[in-house]
Amino acid sequence: VVIGEHRHTQVTVDLQAIKNNIKTEMDRKDPLTELWAVVKANGYGHGIIQVAQAAKQAGATGFCVAILDEALALRAAGITEPILVLGITEPEYAPLIAEKDISVAVGSLDWLQTAKHILAANQVRVPLHVHLALDTGMGRIGFQTPTELAAAVATLREPQTAFDFEGIFTHFATADQADDTYFTHQLDNWKKLIAAVDELPKYVHVSNSATSLWHQACNGNVVRFGVALYGLNPSGRELSAPYSLQPALSLTAQLSFVKKLAKGKSISYGATYTAAKDEWIGTVPIGYADGYERRLQGFHVLVDGHVCEIVGRVCMDQMMVRLPHEVPVGTKVTLVGTDGDQTISLQDIADYCGTIHYEIACGIAPRVPRVYV
Ligand code: PLP
Repeated sequence: VVIGEHRHTQVTVDLQAIKNNIKTEMDRKDPLTELWAVVKANGYGHGIIQVAQAAKQAGATGFCVAILDEALALRAAGITEPILVLGITEPEYAPLIAEKDISVAVGSLDWLQTAKHILAANQVRVPLHVHLALDTGMGRIGFQTPTELAAAVATLREPQTAFDFEGIFTHFATADQADDTYFTHQLDNWKKLIAAVDELPKYVHVSNSATSLWHQACNGNVVRFGVALYGLNPSGRELSAPYSLQPALSLTAQLSFVKKLAKGKSISYGATYTAAKDEWIGTVPIGYADGYERRLQGFHVLVDGHVCEIVGRVCMDQMMVRLPHEVPVGTKVTLVGTDGDQTISLQDIADYCGTIHYEIACGIAPRVPRVYV
């Protein structure tokens, strides 16, 4: 990956905001419940290692990632706390997972049996930490019936087992919605399923950010705290968070070119925008290859605190904005964040694009450097 160190376009991540969000959540949850920071997908675009270290300083006692490589990256960076891989990892990697002291989500008996043979064949002497995933209604991964679950638990508890039955968990599909009908249905399924387990493992967990924010009573003894630690409301605009979340990410650039465009002249591919009168136009060095979506034509940025419309199509690496008056090349452009009394949030961008802020944050390309303050 080539990072644009010499271009004036950057993400700034406020690590103190991340620490504050975590500390606030830690203060309001049961003190015996741990907070594990979800740092998958490069820390939702914020930077996996930097976020993990900040989260640890703020009191996170474990981490969740989506894929094994992310767990390995955390271990390589010196993170020694528990790390849970939330997605399904191929059983062929069981020896590596065990040796690196990583925990994995398991959702089928087949997986356990295959991993058991691979661990035995490789003479692995350390146990593989397993968190059984229960599908209570998310429909993604996990055991669906008490019978399947009981068989998995029995396998995990076989004498001289290769496994450490470390955790059991589920994931809610609608914890971020005002209507809690489906949430309640999932919670009932969870209760029925775990009733099939005579002795629960060390970690029992059901809560993503939304569950911990709005259904705190059902937190187990770990919260998998993701989007809210970045200062983003998991429900978008539907529910208000019980405390003020501090967004950690801002995205800024500098104008790379400024010109007067004569009335009747057009801008960008397709010539979809034509100046109705003489106008000042600025070029911003960012485009859809940076994760600034092409659909954002007609949206706005802040140039020196002024709201300026994005005119013409967003190109791969550049785009144009209409300025209120002539401003110098190098003038600050805020694409996400606050300048003066104006703010553009990831939520605003998501609304314009018809998606969720998670997708916008994760979509900011690795080409854009991340700077930490
Ligand atoms: N737990 C699981 C299983 C997940 O897949 C995710 C993220 O998608 C999370 C927790 C964290 O969710 P959130 O970022 O909404 O807190």
